[in-house]
Amino acid sequence: MSDASLFDLLRRRIEADGPITVARYMEAALTHPKFGYYTGRDPLGQDGDFTTAPEVSQMFGELLGLWCVVNWQQIGAPETFHLVELGPGRGTLMADALRAAKLMPDFVDAVGVHLIEASPALREKQKFTLETTVPGTDVTWHDSFDSVPEGPLLVLANEFFDALPVRQYQRADAGWCERLVGLEGDELVFLLSMPMARVPAIPEALEEAPVGSLFETRPAADAVAYAVAQRIARFGGAAAIIDYGHGESAAGDTLQAVKAHQYHDVLKDPGEADLTAHVDFQTLAEAAEDGGAKAHGLVPQGEFLDRLGLAERARALLQNATPDQGKEIEAAYKRLIDPEEMGTLFKVLCLTHPDMPSPPGCE
Ligand code: SAH
Repeated sequence: MSDASLFDLLRRRIEADGPITVARYMEAALTHPKFGYYTGRDPLGQDGDFTTAPEVSQMFGELLGLWCVVNWQQIGAPETFHLVELGPGRGTLMADALRAAKLMPDFVDAVGVHLIEASPALREKQKFTLETTVPGTDVTWHDSFDSVPEGPLLVLANEFFDALPVRQYQRADAGWCERLVGLEGDELVFLLSMPMARVPAIPEALEEAPVGSLFETRPAADAVAYAVAQRIARFGGAAAIIDYGHGESAAGDTLQAVKAHQYHDVLKDPGEADLTAHVDFQTLAEAAEDGGAKAHGLVPQGEFLDRLGLAERARALLQNATPDQGKEIEAAYKRLIDPEEMGTLFKVLCLTHPDMPSPPGCE
């Protein structure tokens, strides 16, 4: 029997096997090979569902490109290295970064680009973006980070970790339960599992949290951070992880759906809306340190970009801009840096080899 929608498929699965975890729901909704939200569409930009920093302004990717150049010099300017991006969207950040890095021709000669991307539709976009802006670049696509070849590496991830599936646990009278997705009539609903014996991922301080408290874990994110950190520790390199989230693990339900720039019901129209949850940077940094890297930060995005020279870059662009372009540059500057906009909600966690100094932006 073939399903007409992800809802049909999930209904059949739940009817056959019972409720599924929130993580399985989120994974299916985002990356199911046929019905996943990312699988067949480009959700980014004004006409899409949400806009990210690289889509706000070229300045974002350019500054990260310069950040990469400095880190490449810090690790001894290896003659070959991997520039890895996790979840590259339209390829805009990578294109802007490589354009900016041209001021260091040895960097460009040494680089091999590796893009970790689940979506066939976005892979096509990335290919087009890179072929048109930085033709001749050596690019390889991967389903997961694990297949990136060994060697020194720089890793960029903007709004990647927030898209990885979370498990949710909820405190009930009898203890912590896992939050599940089940069926009630023709609708998907949240349910709770039976109370569980101690869940190791839940901080001890929350063991006796009030009934109704919710805690999220993200095993897939911890695994990627651990793997990236191991590579950095073994071969040298650095990573910049930019996302929205909190610096200390805390209780709270942060799972949200967005469609056409508006909040949407998390369980409605699976596969048709973007689903994300806040990144728990404390757990992510701990996973990276377990992997052998040193964690730097957390730095609010606004401060990070300010230290990398966003104001100077904006001024340089303004010199050759028409009045309309000037307004756009100023609006983009504000959007990236203002605490009311992306400046503090978004944060930057950097990883380096333990022997390296703090990377630019984290001093
Ligand atoms: N970094 C881009 C896009 C962010 S959207 C930007 O800032 O504009 C999230 C990106 O991660 C998309 O490219 C999406 O297809 C990709 N993605 C989501 N889940 C993934 C997974 N499990 N494996 C690989 N890529 C994934």
